[in-house]
Amino acid sequence: MARSDAPPPKQTPMMAQYHRLKAEAEDALLFYRMGDFFELFFDDAKVAASCLDIALTKRGSDGGEDVPMCGVPVHAAEGYLARLIRAGHRVAIAEQTESPAEARKARGSKALVERAIVRLVTPGTLTEETLLESGRSNWLAAVGRAGEDWAIAAADISTGRFELVACGPGELKAELARLSPAEVIADNKVPGIATSAGKGGFDSIAGERSLKERYGVATLDGFGAPSRAELVAAGGLLAYLQATQKDAVAFLAAPRRIARAQYMAIDPATRDSLEIVRTQTRSHAGSLLACIDRCVTAPGRRLLAADLSAPLTDVPAIEARLALVKWLHEEPIRRARVREALRAMPDIGRALGRLVAGRGSPRDLAQLRDGLSAAASLKAELECDLTCPDLLKSLLPDMGGHAALTDRLHVALVASPPLDTAKGGYIAEGYDAALDALRIASQDGRRAIAALEAGYRDQTGLSSLKIRHNAVLGYHIEVSARQADRLMAPDSGFTHRQTLAGVVRFNSPDLHAEASKVVEAGAHALAAEVAHFEELSALAVAAAARIADTADAIARIDVAAANAERASEGQWCLPHLSDEPVMALEGARHPVVEEALAKDGERFVANDCALSARDRLWLITGPNMGGKSTFLRQVAIAALLAQAGMYVPATSATIGVVDRLFSRVGAADNLARGRSTFMVEMVETAAILAQATPRSLVILDEIGRGTSTYDGLAIAWAVVEAMHDTVNSRTLFATHYHELTRLSDRLDALSLHHVRAREWKGELVLMHEVADGPADRSYGIAVAKLAGLPPLVLARAKSVLSKLEAGRDATGGIAAGLDDLPLFASQTLEAHAPDPLADALAAIDPDALSPREALDALYSLKRLAATG
Ligand code: ATP
Repeated sequence: MARSDAPPPKQTPMMAQYHRLKAEAEDALLFYRMGDFFELFFDDAKVAASCLDIALTKRGSDGGEDVPMCGVPVHAAEGYLARLIRAGHRVAIAEQTESPAEARKARGSKALVERAIVRLVTPGTLTEETLLESGRSNWLAAVGRAGEDWAIAAADISTGRFELVACGPGELKAELARLSPAEVIADNKVPGIATSAGKGGFDSIAGERSLKERYGVATLDGFGAPSRAELVAAGGLLAYLQATQKDAVAFLAAPRRIARAQYMAIDPATRDSLEIVRTQTRSHAGSLLACIDRCVTAPGRRLLAADLSAPLTDVPAIEARLALVKWLHEEPIRRARVREALRAMPDIGRALGRLVAGRGSPRDLAQLRDGLSAAASLKAELECDLTCPDLLKSLLPDMGGHAALTDRLHVALVASPPLDTAKGGYIAEGYDAALDALRIASQDGRRAIAALEAGYRDQTGLSSLKIRHNAVLGYHIEVSARQADRLMAPDSGFTHRQTLAGVVRFNSPDLHAEASKVVEAGAHALAAEVAHFEELSALAVAAAARIADTADAIARIDVAAANAERASEGQWCLPHLSDEPVMALEGARHPVVEEALAKDGERFVANDCALSARDRLWLITGPNMGGKSTFLRQVAIAALLAQAGMYVPATSATIGVVDRLFSRVGAADNLARGRSTFMVEMVETAAILAQATPRSLVILDEIGRGTSTYDGLAIAWAVVEAMHDTVNSRTLFATHYHELTRLSDRLDALSLHHVRAREWKGELVLMHEVADGPADRSYGIAVAKLAGLPPLVLARAKSVLSKLEAGRDATGGIAAGLDDLPLFASQTLEAHAPDPLADALAAIDPDALSPREALDALYSLKRLAATG
């Protein structure tokens, strides 16, 4: 009989409810609350069990089939959630919206408890401490479009930031790279950008309406009159927050419109190449950020990452930041005191985010109390200092003004509220007389119960008698099974409640009376504490905007102090900013490479750079491993740090403001990482030629290497010419194509430089020093020797090279000289019997030897022949 002829098996009401909620949750995993557990069923269970490494079990049946199931305890759910979110899942939380008792009362003894999805947990909508990284912002970005215009609306609801950025379609990626969002949503697919589906609302009229409603304003002029595309993005963002947060209100300050020109434009490839906030392998360790971060607060760390990701272009704004760093740099004692004060400050921004979202705890209030009080003391101390720079003066008012709230929190809360708030105990004694009385009543009751226990033991003579408490029976009398008979007697005054393996449990009228008092007083006390918590939270939420300002001010001071600290550690210098297209660095270093070398006890060789309008293209040649890439990057990093308002690893630095920064590494250099192909390299080079301006800084590292030698050389040649003649950016171009050095005859703003190397006693010595003029030769074979290539191969390479060079001279064709070269043919490396004398002979390069060295070599050959 066909299966479809069978009557459909009946679905239990619970499963029906589950399927309804699951349909609502769509592709999110559904956490279905059952008592003390969140359960997952069907495919969700399989996914979660394997991701969380927990047991997959089965439950009853659904339409005749076994239902796969797994579950996590509610009290530990956050940790599991964190892992699922990190693995890229979204989770819908279905809570019980009534107690089983309420369900029974309303709909009979078999009634199913009502459940509803109360929140959709997604990577971009987190507020919990355990789900977030303290040092990283957590942006949710919505991409909107109106005709040809695009925009991003981005919110970090863990701290209340909200940005609107208008951009062209080609700039979306760069803007998203700056924000590095945890989640990007859009209405439709956006070419080249990984987005997930939003929850509607991507419509300028809806966006305008939601913004007006949310901020209670009649016009959006106060927000700088957002464009249509920005309204579309904002609409999508707010709809998504509404859909994921349900009844909770996400914390959002008024939107800030970002004018893109106020930041240095840095595209994603450049960010990757310079490893600004993470390395190319996506790790924080080894990045520029990790190398410079000396922040002592989490908000400071987040701001430092934001500053580094978005260096400024406005000289006065940069100088204002630098003045604050300088003020903290020049007085180590002042810096130490400020940092000491900051170190004690909790992350008030995120505590506030949780309170606003209705997920706060008394601990969050205590963090506000401590953080805001510490900010006020720091303010008082800084205010007395007349030398205080302008930026700090402008921050100081933001750091105070919370006295009423902090005073209240000081009297209301205990010093460190418990993690588990279910039992209360966070409201301080003396704050509420009624609460104190309830607590005393409950304590008195507990004392009375203890007295009762002692009395019963005397009265019955039973040594094992105890009064205990549990969730099911409440207070009860317990005796061992052996001694239970006495209490079982009908006239004993005790009522039997429960018999277990070793013990028997009873009640008594006196105990019942005392226990009721304790329970009642306890419940009232708890309710009173909850009411106080809600009232205090509401006070904090009402002051949210000001508290967020304080959090920002603290972060700014922390970043400045951290940079001053880093600068003094590394003897960095205060950069001078200019509007001229210059880049003059003396004694510049690459901070990350320098740090890595220092760990090995090696010293970094500092170098100078002097780009200007008249000498704006440096062509840098020199051996592999000579330090070309490092030099290029350290110049870019100097500009980045300076414009972020930070000191620079150099002895002096004059930096003409860079509007756009480009860093490209040729395919050949990057292939090992499997990230780049020649095509990508060319696409990126094309983008530079199209976008760079005379105010840009461009570093090109071995461009053109990913293809055949002639093609590569030709492309590199044409790119250098274009950079010089039409793009006019300040450019550093590192290359192995010596032929390019000939361009210096023709291009007057191009100059030749090289990283120095010499051969000494047949060994290559890399000096890591940038000097004027072209490299005398490429040293490729010498580097290969350094790397340990066998002497036979080296000797062979040398003879191929000399033939190639001879061939090129004769015919201009690189391969021309190869025709008459004897090939390896039958001579494989393995078949070749070791011959130390031949090897030593092969390793000698007569051209590189002084007469004295040649004589030494001759003696050593003779010695070798004698011993061999
Ligand atoms: P290739 O042409 O093979 O890409 P390169 O010339 O670009 O080589 P880098 O990658 O910049 O060379 O540097 C190679 C190594 O040399 C670095 O990893 C670093 O350890 C060391 N180095 C580079 N610059 C310096 C310096 N200024 N001082 C000391 N060591 C340096």
